[in-house]
Amino acid sequence: REIRVCVAASCQSSGALPVLEALRSACEAQGQGRCKVKGVGCMGLCSAGPLVAVADKDAGLDQSVLYRAVTPDDAPEILASVYGAPVARLQCPTDQPFFTRQQRIVLENSGVIDPESLRGYIAVGGYAALVQALTEMTPAEVVREVTASGLRGRGGGGYPTGLKWSTVAKMPAGQKYIVCNADEGDPGAFMDRAVLESDPHRVLEGMAIAGYAVGASKGYVYVRAEYPLAVARLETAIRKARRAGFLGTKVADTQFAFDIELRLGAGAFVCGEETALMASIEGLRGQPRPRPPYPAESGLWGCPTLINNVETFANIPPIIRNGGDWFATIGTEGSKGTKVFALAGKIRNTGLIEVPMGTSLREIIEVIGGGIPGGKGFKAVQTGGPSGGCIPADYLDIPVDYDSLKSLGTIMGSGGMIVMDETSCMVDVARFFMEFCMSESCGKCVPCRTGTWQLHALLAKIAKGQGTRADLALLEDLCEVVRATSLCGLGQTAPNPVLSTLRHFRDEYEAKLQRDA
Ligand code: SF4
Repeated sequence: REIRVCVAASCQSSGALPVLEALRSACEAQGQGRCKVKGVGCMGLCSAGPLVAVADKDAGLDQSVLYRAVTPDDAPEILASVYGAPVARLQCPTDQPFFTRQQRIVLENSGVIDPESLRGYIAVGGYAALVQALTEMTPAEVVREVTASGLRGRGGGGYPTGLKWSTVAKMPAGQKYIVCNADEGDPGAFMDRAVLESDPHRVLEGMAIAGYAVGASKGYVYVRAEYPLAVARLETAIRKARRAGFLGTKVADTQFAFDIELRLGAGAFVCGEETALMASIEGLRGQPRPRPPYPAESGLWGCPTLINNVETFANIPPIIRNGGDWFATIGTEGSKGTKVFALAGKIRNTGLIEVPMGTSLREIIEVIGGGIPGGKGFKAVQTGGPSGGCIPADYLDIPVDYDSLKSLGTIMGSGGMIVMDETSCMVDVARFFMEFCMSESCGKCVPCRTGTWQLHALLAKIAKGQGTRADLALLEDLCEVVRATSLCGLGQTAPNPVLSTLRHFRDEYEAKLQRDA
C-alpha cells in the first residue's frame, strides 16, 4: 500500500509539503517498510486540501481512502490507518458525486502517479502509445486515428484536431514544428497547469506522436513563467525522457528524431493567441498578425507548424492506445470525448473535474460541484473566461458541448467555469472582464486598443449609476464595432461578456441607469 500526498500547486499552497515531510519522517521512524509515501499530482478537490490518499499500489483515486485538510500533526494517525481503521475525523468520502460522476481520461494519472517519476508513468502504460505509433503504424494511420476520434482542439476554438494534423502532414517534407500552447491566461482557469504539474510525460508523449504523424522533428512547449511548478516538472520530464530515449535522435530505437524545448511566456494574455505565441517563441514582441497564412502552412520561422493546447495533446496517447473509434463513443455527436473544467467562484467544491462532453451544467454545478455555498441561489456561470459569456439558471439543463455553448452566446474556451450566486452584480462582472481585456490588449490595432478602453469607461459609468440610455445604446454599438474590426481573437471576443450579460440580465443594466435618462 502507499500513501499519496497531493503536491500540485493548490495543495502546496494549503501546506502539502510539510505534510509530505511529516509522513515520510513518521514512516521512517516506525520502520514501516511495507508502506511508501509519495508525492502525486492534483486529486481534483482543491477546496479540501491538503489531500492525502491511502491506496493499494494500483488503485485509482476512487478506490482510495481519502483524507482532507491534513496537517503534519495527523501523520502518525494516517500512518497507523494504512493497515488499520481509517481516521474518521479526516476522511473525505470518495463515493460522493464529485468523484463518482467524473470520467477521467486526461486526468487518469493525476493524483495517482508521481509526476517526477518516469518509471511511475511507464508503470501505468506511459509511452506505450508512442512506441505503438512508431513501430506499428504509419504517420498517415496515426492521423487517421486522431481524425476518427473526433477530437476537437481543447484550447477554445474547437477546431477538428485530425483536420489540423492532416493539413500539416500534407505540407512538403522539411522543417516542421510542433507547439504546445500552455499559456493558460483566463482568470479562474487552471486546467493546463494541473495537467502539466500532475502528468507532464503525458503531454510530451502526445507531442512526440504528433511529431511523428506530421513529420516534425522539433517541438516547443510555450508555458507561463508564472507556473514555476509546471515549468520545473516539465524540465524534469524532458530531461528524463531524453535519457530514456523517448526524446532525441532515435526515439524508442527507431529512425524517428524528435526533441522538445521549453519557452517561457512573461504573462501577456495575448500570447495565448497562436500567431503572437509564435512571434514570442521567435524572440519577437508577442503581437498577433493577420491570418492567413495559418500556422499549419507558415508558422514558426515560416515553417509548417502544428499548434495544440495541453489538454489536446494529453488526449492523444489514450486515443492511440484504445483507437479513435473508442474515443468517439464518448461525448456528443459534435463534441467527442471528455472535457476538463476548473470550477471556481461561488461553488462548494472548487477544483478540477473531468466529465464526458454533453454533461449538463446542472450536473456539473449542483451535483459534482456541490452547489452554491451559504444557502444562496445560483445566478449564472461564466464559461470561456474573458472571451466567453455567462449562462443564467434557465439554461442549467443544456448539455455542455462546443455547439450548445455557442448557441447561448458563449464558448467552451479552455474550460474555466466561474460560478456566480444571487449576490453577484452582472454589470460588475462585465466590467471586470472588460478591464482585463483592456489591460491585456497589445495595442497593435485601434478598435481593440481604444475600443476596450471606451467600453470599460462606459461600463464603469453605468455601474456607478451615472449612465444614461444613450450610454447603453453606445455600449451595444461599440461592442459590435470592436467585435467586427479587431485584428485578433482577444479584441474580437472582448465584448462577449458584455453582450451575454446584456442578453440575459438586461434588467440589471436598466436598473442602474439614471432615473431621468
Ligand atoms: Fe492586439 Fe487587441 Fe488588436 Fe489583438 S485585437 S492585435 S490584442 S490590439
